[in-house]
Formats: sequence, structure tokens, C-alpha cells
Amino acid sequence: MLILFDIDATLINTSRSGILALADAGRELFGPAFTVDRTEFAGRLDPLIIADLLRENGVPDTADNRARLRDGYRRHIGGRLQAPGTCRTLPGVVELIAALRATPGTTIGLLTGNFEDTGCLKLRACGIDPDHFPVCVWGDHSPHDPPSRDHLPPLALSKYHRCTGRQLAPASATIIGDTPHDVRCALATGMRCLGVATGHFSAQQLRNAGAHRAVDNLSQTEDVLSWLLGRG
Ligand SMILES: [Mg+2]
Repeated sequence: MLILFDIDATLINTSRSGILALADAGRELFGPAFTVDRTEFAGRLDPLIIADLLRENGVPDTADNRARLRDGYRRHIGGRLQAPGTCRTLPGVVELIAALRATPGTTIGLLTGNFEDTGCLKLRACGIDPDHFPVCVWGDHSPHDPPSRDHLPPLALSKYHRCTGRQLAPASATIIGDTPHDVRCALATGMRCLGVATGHFSAQQLRNAGAHRAVDNLSQTEDVLSWLLGRG
């Protein structure tokens, strides 16, 4: 069994540190009028967010400008994450991760739109060790252009195989996420999806998007665990 967690608004809340760091970087590189206000962030891949930010600010979407904005993002996010009161894990997350790690035959992973370096910075700032997740698929891992979140779940199954030596049926994997993008990518590969309404979307909206189950948060550890492990 494989349980894949989204990061932002599923495991942690960093008070928009990533968005603020992108704004810091954009203003530094491209001028004070650079804005993040026209861009959709929730549940999207970092490479697509970077490209949208450039285009929506009238900056040529070149490989060089993408690399500069990404580098600036990495430089600025550390300071944003260090501001007091910025970072927290969401209810039940620490307990659920501990319970899953203690369950034989269960592997946990990350399936996220974040770049690996900045995603790990966010998790560590919230006290979560990214090394506790043996199967990780990051926002720039899609081999296709343009990339899509829907490309990521099959990569997680490949990584599971490399990691454990076992093939896993998609139906034995579950994605936990807070947006319809998480739900859609799970369904596209035949995985289960647990929606968690700790972001911008309600449990009902996540169910309407097709989540097999949706909860307000992950604080009911035994109940969530039973469902994830197929007991409930
Ligand atoms: Mg999220």
C-alpha cells in the first residue's frame, strides 16, 4: 500500500511563504510592478506557476528567465519561512504520519507541485523530515512539455517499484490532497483520493471533484487510518 501526500495545505501551512518569496524574487529581478495577484497557485506545479508569473507580468517566458525566477524564489523563501509564527503542521498530520510509518506493508510518499529543494525547505521549517517519505514525486518530474500533475502518479508507482521491488496496482495507492487538482490526478491513474479541506476547498467541493472521501482535517487519526488501510 502506498499513501501519497500533497504538501501545501495538506501537510503544512506556511502562511503563503512560497507566494511571497516569488513576489520578492520577481520584484527584485523584473521591477517593483511585478505582481503575483493574477496567478493561480493552489494545487499547481511550480514550473507552470513560474511560467504563468513571467507571462502575466509581461516578462519573456525564456529558459533563462524561468531559471532566474526559480533561483530568486529559492534565495527568498528561507527568510520568509523563518518569520515567527509562519509555519505549522496541519491538525493530525504528525500523528497520521507516525501511525502510517509504524504500519507494516505501508509506504508513504510525497506527490506535490513543489520543486524538491524549496519543498524540502518548507517541510523542514514545519518540523517534518522529508527523508521519512521514501517515494517522492516533485513538481518538475513530469517528462512531458507542458507538464501536468496528471503525469505524476504513474511516476510514484515506478518509484515504489524501485524502492520496494514490488509492483503496485494503482487502486492500492491513495493520494491525500486539498485541491481538485490532487483529486483529478489520482482519478486519472486509478488511484484513490482522500480530500482534506484544510486549503481553499470544502470537503463537499472535493467530493464533487470526485474524491472517494473528504474530511475537514486529518485529526481523526484512527478513522482516517482505517479508511486508508481499507478497514473502514
Ligand atoms: Mg496543496
